[in-house]
Amino acid sequence: NLSALSLLQFPFGRRLPCDIYWHGVSFHDSNIFSGQVNKFPGMTETVRKITLSRAMRTMRDLFPLEYNFYPRSWILPEELPLFVAEVRTMKDSNPSWKPTFIVKPDGGCQGDGIYLIKDPSDIRLTGSIQSRPAVVQEYICKPLLVDKLKFDIRLYVLLKSLEPLEIYIAKDGLSRFCTEPYQEPTLKNLHQVFMHLTNYSLNIHSGNFIHSASANTGSKRTFSSILCRLSSRGADVKKLWSDIISLVIKTIIALTPELKVYYQSDIPAGKPGPTCFQILGFDILLMKDLKPVLLEVNANPSMRIEHEQELSPGVFENVPSPVDEKVKVAVIRDTLRLMDPQKKKRKDTQSGGALTALSWSPVPRVTPESWHVLCVLSGMAQPMNKLISKNQISCSLEDSPERAPGASEEPLDAVPGPEAALPSLCLKQVFPKYARHFSYLRLVDRVAALFIRFLGVKGTTKLGPTGFRTFIRNCKLSNSNFSMAAVDILYIDITRRWNSMGIDHKESGMCLQAFVEAFFCLAQKKYKALPLHKQVLSLLELCECRLAAVPGKRLVWGCG
Ligand code: ADP
Repeated sequence: NLSALSLLQFPFGRRLPCDIYWHGVSFHDSNIFSGQVNKFPGMTETVRKITLSRAMRTMRDLFPLEYNFYPRSWILPEELPLFVAEVRTMKDSNPSWKPTFIVKPDGGCQGDGIYLIKDPSDIRLTGSIQSRPAVVQEYICKPLLVDKLKFDIRLYVLLKSLEPLEIYIAKDGLSRFCTEPYQEPTLKNLHQVFMHLTNYSLNIHSGNFIHSASANTGSKRTFSSILCRLSSRGADVKKLWSDIISLVIKTIIALTPELKVYYQSDIPAGKPGPTCFQILGFDILLMKDLKPVLLEVNANPSMRIEHEQELSPGVFENVPSPVDEKVKVAVIRDTLRLMDPQKKKRKDTQSGGALTALSWSPVPRVTPESWHVLCVLSGMAQPMNKLISKNQISCSLEDSPERAPGASEEPLDAVPGPEAALPSLCLKQVFPKYARHFSYLRLVDRVAALFIRFLGVKGTTKLGPTGFRTFIRNCKLSNSNFSMAAVDILYIDITRRWNSMGIDHKESGMCLQAFVEAFFCLAQKKYKALPLHKQVLSLLELCECRLAAVPGKRLVWGCG
């Protein structure tokens, strides 16, 4: 009920600027110059299986103990030889190790194309791998079971702002159950998806799937019901929550460098643009010992609160799903409460900022086709695309949703929002609240800040050879042992390799991950004796100190 939040909805777009823009799939509208958009540029790309695995590996190289919550992963096809060699070495050193691996196509979802293998030689190399890169990952063989079934947790996380970093976690989530009793993987049961994969979209097709109106039975339950159960068995639920919070913060810290590169490219600092926020779906598996393991991050988690029921063969009906409704409605409602345009305007007015932004040139009417429809709130008849606060315009609530294109947008008075009558927030702030425990991990963020500083032309995501040379010169990293010719060779070698892995051919030049690799390389060269994170930190401090003396582009962030 948007009126309770003092919001009016414009499902077909609006000529005048809106306070909040709600996109269904990804950030895709470059015609928005103010307000807040519910997607970050580049989020979909950043959380793809390969990119996420790479980001996690970089963080694990720096902080092996802190980043041990993501299964060891290899990228196919390029790391197939490495995968084969590492597995052989591990098996040689521990002959009793009988691993299982899970192969997941990049960009896949809903369990699509996933299969389990016992040996690297079982990877299906015919055709699809070349055309469809994938991640092969250690399979967690001993998950926590409830009612003898494997399950995973979907937690909703709000990335409220990138700079400064603000993260909220929903206090409740969903637990999605397999529909066949779990057995540790053997050659005989490897292909049994209802036993090994927890995807709702797969298990819904099992005859054993149970739709339940109750939060603590059936194939989809609330996470809080699982916690109650664990707590009654004597499990340390507080510790589990704190491990989950830590996993979420560390994962977002791993993603922010890439996101910042996309952000400055799509919404350059100093130019009119919206700010962004995003609801992410974290898929987490609990191991038998209650250690949480990150499976993946979804940029566009399903917000459906109903499911299909087959009334008679071929005849389907949408029926409400109370468990989904309980969790998801609260997440969206509280996201909107936290993103409250009124609060933002008050803050901006105090800092002399974006009130003027609201009177910038009107946003052209967006054609309905360019909107991805998302129906999320219970009782909401129309897709929620554009939302506006009652003070910016004040249309009668009855008038707004179905206004014909071109019809009057005359302000009328809106119903005051009974915010006080709303339940307490389900979203809990975890960052900056716990920043002091995690800020030391944000090294790649600082490397990304250097990268962005030297990108040069706005709107790019890749660094040219001149930008790289300028970085080396300004930071005074070249000397008799490391000539500018060697700098060029480093640039060419690393850039060529990353570009040959070929995810993004749109632009030429050095991508952020390649720059990070080059930076680590320089740090290792310069500070040989230290562990990697200290090498990187030392080089960062040196660069930041030398750049402080150079009058250059100031980093102005608008991503908050
Ligand atoms: P998709 O995006 O296709 O759903 P996921 O990475 O979420 O891909 O994997 C699908 C399912 O496979 C998960 O929900 C989980 O049940 C199972 N799974 C994925 N990775 C692992 C793993 N490393 N160990 C154990 N189970 C896994």
